[in-house]
Amino acid sequence: MQAVIMAGGKGTRLSAVTHDIPKPMVSIAGKPLLEHQIENLKKCGITDIILVTGYLGDVIEKYFYDGKGLSPATGKPFGVDISYYSEETPLGTAGALGKIKDRLQENFVLLFGDLFTCIDYQRFIKFHEEKKSEATLFVHPNSHPYDSDIVITDSTDKIIGWSCKNTERNKYYKNLVNAGVYILDRKIAEYVSDIQRCGKEKVDLEKDIITKLIENKDADIYGYISSEYVKDLGTPERLETVKKDHFSGICEKRNLSNKQKCIFLDRDGTVNKYVGFLRRSEQMELAPTAAEAIKKINSSEYLAVIITNQPVIARGECSIEELEKIHNKMYTLLGNEGAYADGLYYCPHHPDGGFEGEVKELKINCDCRKPKTGMLRKAEKDLNIDLSRSWFVGDTYLDVQTGINAGMKTILLRSGDENKSNKYGCVPDHIANDLNEAVDIILNN
Ligand SMILES: [Zn+2]
Repeated sequence: MQAVIMAGGKGTRLSAVTHDIPKPMVSIAGKPLLEHQIENLKKCGITDIILVTGYLGDVIEKYFYDGKGLSPATGKPFGVDISYYSEETPLGTAGALGKIKDRLQENFVLLFGDLFTCIDYQRFIKFHEEKKSEATLFVHPNSHPYDSDIVITDSTDKIIGWSCKNTERNKYYKNLVNAGVYILDRKIAEYVSDIQRCGKEKVDLEKDIITKLIENKDADIYGYISSEYVKDLGTPERLETVKKDHFSGICEKRNLSNKQKCIFLDRDGTVNKYVGFLRRSEQMELAPTAAEAIKKINSSEYLAVIITNQPVIARGECSIEELEKIHNKMYTLLGNEGAYADGLYYCPHHPDGGFEGEVKELKINCDCRKPKTGMLRKAEKDLNIDLSRSWFVGDTYLDVQTGINAGMKTILLRSGDENKSNKYGCVPDHIANDLNEAVDIILNN
């Protein structure tokens, strides 16, 4: 696999820290951002790299030399084969692809030079190949979805819509944002070239290509949803966050080639206010400290994954569409507070049949209904989680027993459901007043 890095960015917003260097050369732990990106690619076996340069491109070329010997700037080899394309005038985020289309392999990674990445690219490539995707976007929840473009996916992760930050959007939406790392079929470069042949040299990847293809249903475009570390260094504050996260090792720990630590959260009474059976989105309100607590998890090395029994589906009291709306409201409310979930698994089943209005095929004795561990096993596999180093937090003894069944440490909340009957006779590792206190216990453990 080949990689193209768009490294022509001027970085006006970072000018206070970049001075006379191009943005991709900003230093993190004594090394330019671009070198971190290249090391990440190289570690995943991607060594054929095209750097698209523009503003102060000579600084980049001097640092990396031509890959055929020592860099005069650093005196060290980088172990990759770098070639260049230099833009004389800025061609937008995709224009260069039209110019280098004959140098591209059938599929290639594209990333922007202002991102700090720590990605398991082989996992990403596997997804792209399995989906037979024409363009795969690395997408993730972020801490400010309300002022970000939102990607809308279907249940197969195919992107079916795009909600721009400046347009009116549905009241509630899933927090999924395009991170700026792609795997593209060479056809995409052909499309860019077609636009340029019509006289438009400057081409924007999102606006002129990706969203058009989605809109016209011309291509199969997928979102690769990942909890791995990808952050842009658009502002001095974000640069400081990345430096801090790099220093503490969070970037590397979140790489999915490494086993992940996770805090599993019950939904009703833990993340949202307990109202008994929640059947309509109007009933979804966050528990008082939930967003604050989940935000803390998001900036730690732990993943935050919600695990919930929703027998209301089997009982015919809530449709899958309404459940999706309920979850989208939860994601939106969390997003408004800068918090997000890395995953959510629900069990729609219920074992006892014979009620009016029920959905017969969901009235089964499944493997996923808590306290069974089916949902945890699925998350374990999907997100490469080490359950033995993970926690389960919930407001009932059912949650405690679920955690124990999967070999995890557990915390029972005093808040949430007031009925704390314990038919399992289980004992949690800790008891906390609310989710925020529980998360503090885990993070200080
Ligand atoms: Zn189930």
